[in-house]
Amino acid sequence: MTASDAPICLVDLDNTVVDFFGHLDAGLARLHPDQPLHDRSRFVIWGDDVDRNAAIRDVITEQDFFATMPVYDGARDALIQMQRAGISVVVCTSPMTSNPMSWSAKAAWVRRHLGQRFVEALAIAGDKTLVRGDVLVDDRVGLTGRREPEWQQVFFTQPYNADIDGPHLDRWANWEEVISPLIGGGDFR
Ligand SMILES: [Mg+2]
Repeated sequence: MTASDAPICLVDLDNTVVDFFGHLDAGLARLHPDQPLHDRSRFVIWGDDVDRNAAIRDVITEQDFFATMPVYDGARDALIQMQRAGISVVVCTSPMTSNPMSWSAKAAWVRRHLGQRFVEALAIAGDKTLVRGDVLVDDRVGLTGRREPEWQQVFFTQPYNADIDGPHLDRWANWEEVISPLIGGGDFR
C-alpha cells in the first residue's frame, strides 16, 4: 500500500454496516426467549439486571456471533461504489473486549463480505481518534479518545443519535449526497 491524496472515509461496522442489534435480538430469541428484545432507543446493551446481562453475554460470546452478522441493505454496494469513485474506504471498528474472538471474527466478516482489499486496510481500534481519515461514518454518540479526531463524524442514523447535531446518513443509498460534499467533490480518481 502506498501513500496517496485520496480522501479517506472510515466506516464503523456495528450498527453502521451490520445490524448488531438485530443479530443480538435473534440470538436472545434463540437462546433466551424469556428475555425482551433490545430497546433500540438505547445504545448501551448492558443494564443493572444480572440475568439480562448474562443472557446478552451468552449471545455475544457465541463463537460465530461476529462472523455471522447480517449486513444492512445497500451497505456493501455503497462501500464498493465509494472505493470505485476514488475514495479510500477503511473499515474502522472497535473490538468487543468481552469476546476474544471478535478481532479475528471481524476480520473474517470483512474478508467474506467486502473482500481481501478491505481486510488489508482494516483498522480495529479501541480508540478511533488515533485513526486518521477525513470522515468517519459511525452511529456512536460521544466518540472521544486520546486525541482530537482528524475526521469529521457522519452519524449513521439510529434512534439514539437522531437528535445530535451534525451530518447524518439515514441509508447507505444516500452516501453520495451526504459524504461527497464533506470531502470536496464527486469523482476522486
Ligand atoms: Mg457502531
